[in-house]
Amino acid sequence: MTTRQTCLDQDVADPLGEVRDRFSLPEEVIYLDGNSLGALTHAAAARVREATEQQWGRDLISSWNRHGWIALPQQTGRKIARLIGAGADEVTAADSVSVNLFKLAAAAVRARGSERRAVIIERGDFPTDLYILQGLAEAMPEIDLRVVEPGGVEAALDNRAAVVLLSHVHYRSGAVRDMAALSAAVQAAGAFSLWDLSHSAGVLDVDLNRDGADLAAGCGYKYLNGGPGAPAYLFVAKRHQAALRNPLSGWMGHARPFDFIDDYEPAAGIGRWLCGTPPILSLTALDAALDAFDGVDMAQTRIKAGALGDLFIERVEARCAAQGLTLVGPRAAAMRGGQVSFAHPDGWAIMQNLIARGVIGDFRRPDVIRFGFAPLYVRHVDVWDAVEVLGDILDSESWRDERFQAVSAVT
Ligand SMILES: *Cc1c(COP(=O)(O)O)cnc(C)c1O
Repeated sequence: MTTRQTCLDQDVADPLGEVRDRFSLPEEVIYLDGNSLGALTHAAAARVREATEQQWGRDLISSWNRHGWIALPQQTGRKIARLIGAGADEVTAADSVSVNLFKLAAAAVRARGSERRAVIIERGDFPTDLYILQGLAEAMPEIDLRVVEPGGVEAALDNRAAVVLLSHVHYRSGAVRDMAALSAAVQAAGAFSLWDLSHSAGVLDVDLNRDGADLAAGCGYKYLNGGPGAPAYLFVAKRHQAALRNPLSGWMGHARPFDFIDDYEPAAGIGRWLCGTPPILSLTALDAALDAFDGVDMAQTRIKAGALGDLFIERVEARCAAQGLTLVGPRAAAMRGGQVSFAHPDGWAIMQNLIARGVIGDFRRPDVIRFGFAPLYVRHVDVWDAVEVLGDILDSESWRDERFQAVSAVT
């Protein structure tokens, strides 16, 4: 039987247990929201201070060369590449996920030519993914945007399909898609698979090349811990790099930006996917934060995230039985990413009460409370303690208090 003591014992035996020391976490808080904003690492704090005071402050513009600022997007990309099963020259940090999806989807449609103009996405996917494709379809009226029912991608594939955008892990339910099978189906239909890795990179053992993905983008501020608004990244499989063109053909993606010539010529390789000047302070934080993954086996992160999620479900169903919580998304760890969601009609107020008690998760409309189990710093005992607080809140109905009802701008 699971007890608080067995959780403590599991933490002692945890092969990732010591990685938590790389993070700067407040005492008194159980942080279960690393799937929305990853925690601060000591390395990121130190390197941002150095980049600000020493590099920018003292070495000023010479830092572009002297401290390698100009190469930082691809240096960071190489660190991310290891986490997602990509080659070192297939990934770069750049822009936001939204902008990267625009660039990649537009490039894929252009590469497919006039016979193939269908862009496919599932209803209920992360809003920006839908919005970006809607905007792209307005900008390129020849696009046939197909928003299909969840699970309906394969049925929508035909000889007009150009690109299919899929979330590897769904932001709301936490469900994992079969990247190998879906990539193969999309390619068999003659289209590009474009994967959003925002909720899978840094927690699952993503392997883009093993699974045959064509294109991907993902988020720097969730499980990669790059800090608020950290740059995102993108992946273009080597076999597509020469043929695909970045529609946001800014000077940082030029073959020779400092020639200052009038005509755009894309850089060879992944470098062409940059657009404007990289945000060096944010990128420094992301680059440093990625060192928290040094020596970490991504198979272990997946195992641990699955175990923490299993423990959470088991404890919620035991401690909070008959309290109106319904599991959203898969029960089996093999089918889940790093988060577990429960629906409850009063989810918003319950989450506000949890946060006031130091257990931080988040809420997604209309009724989902979501808990992320970032495997680098969440402990088994945190899961135990979080569920005790949740049970207490539900037993006492303290969430009914007036102060937990007001809705904030960011949920
Ligand atoms: C977090 C997230 C994003 C974030 O997009 P930004 O443009 O970087 O803010 C995009 N897609 C998914 C699936 C996400 O989870």
